[in-house]
Amino acid sequence: MELVKTEQKKFADYLEFLDPEDINEFKTVLQQLQGKKAAMVSATGYGGGVAEKLHSLVPLLNDLGVKVDWWVLSSCPNQFFNITKSFHNCLQGQEGCLLQRDIDIYLHYNELNAFQMQDWNYDFIVIHDPQPAALLHYRGKKPGEKWIWRCHIDTSAPNMDYWNFLYRYISLYDACIFTLEDYVKENHNLQNITFMTPSIDPLSFKNIPLTQERAQEIVASFGIDVNRYLITQISRFDPWKDPLGVVDVYRIVKKELPEVQLALVGSMASDDPEGWDYLYRTLRKAGEDYDIKIVTNFNGITGLEVNAFQTVSDVLLQKSLREGFGLTVTEGLWKSRPVIGGNVGGIRLQIEDGENGYLVNTVEECAEKVLHLLRNPLLAQEMSKKGREKVRKEFLVTKNVLRYLKLFLKLAK
Ligand code: UDP
Repeated sequence: MELVKTEQKKFADYLEFLDPEDINEFKTVLQQLQGKKAAMVSATGYGGGVAEKLHSLVPLLNDLGVKVDWWVLSSCPNQFFNITKSFHNCLQGQEGCLLQRDIDIYLHYNELNAFQMQDWNYDFIVIHDPQPAALLHYRGKKPGEKWIWRCHIDTSAPNMDYWNFLYRYISLYDACIFTLEDYVKENHNLQNITFMTPSIDPLSFKNIPLTQERAQEIVASFGIDVNRYLITQISRFDPWKDPLGVVDVYRIVKKELPEVQLALVGSMASDDPEGWDYLYRTLRKAGEDYDIKIVTNFNGITGLEVNAFQTVSDVLLQKSLREGFGLTVTEGLWKSRPVIGGNVGGIRLQIEDGENGYLVNTVEECAEKVLHLLRNPLLAQEMSKKGREKVRKEFLVTKNVLRYLKLFLKLAK
């Protein structure tokens, strides 16, 4: 096992986002957790959503006085990660058969790493995702230790072969955390099930406030005319994110408001052939229309540019046909921009239709709502304010810090 170093973060910098009652709750819980120590264990320390979240969560917990170390698996070859990648996909429902050879490799590296945990001395050990899930089985539980399994993936309709295998290991834990209630199968005997939605760090590059001037300068460098309407969808090029539907929405809007522009901003992984196929399909659909800008990390899109597009867009879309949670919706609402989302999955937890945004089922409905928001800027502003407030109350990292502390306390008792 290897320790991950994290940057320092000061909880005091986040106080402005909290309500007085939250601050009191933090105080009460922390008093009772004095001197407690926790370990977080994940597959890797960089890349991917889990690592991104832990880079905020771990330093904040430490700053609050709960000593947390973050460990990652060591000595695991690519073969192990290829197997756990198929675990990930199959737990999200992909077809496939779990082979004995893969089980053996998976368990072998869990056993190897568990051996290095013999002299660990923590009150709480939080294991993230399936890769290290069998560590508890091999290491065993010392008296007083509490083990928590945190599932970051959508297990609402898993391939049962894989779920049944994993279940043998996660049923040993004192508590399991899932993202949404829908992600837990009904007939289980898992203990202390807790729910935690993903959250955003308001002080990260992707979410810190940018001035309009700075944000406009950034989007203008991608060929956007900042004096004309801009609709944006930030997402991977994936059928479930429906970028082709977004182009259809834009075309309907353009008939009525010819000055409108569309930006499709996405990140590409060099080892994801499906993503490239879908990017090419989207480019073909956009054709010769130069008011559609399609940009990716290969053109220089990083967190800062995502922030800029979210900050200046007149309407943000997340027209997904299926969605786990939809962090882009959280990010858009946080920037006080009007957001229209597909009426699916976690988007429904974030957008209250007609209150802080719109939920839509079809291209036509989406186009109608875009036009409505563009023509009624005051209404859009009103809704956006409510959107930011919803995120502040429910979806900031501070909320998850508190949820972890409360779970620790519940288990300690
Ligand atoms: N994202 C990014 N660059 C891009 C496109 C997306 O950094 O070009 C980020 C986006 O800001 C969000 C995450 O990737 O934080 C996507 O999370 P979401 O839950 O919306 O969708 P997922 O891709 O996990 O299905």
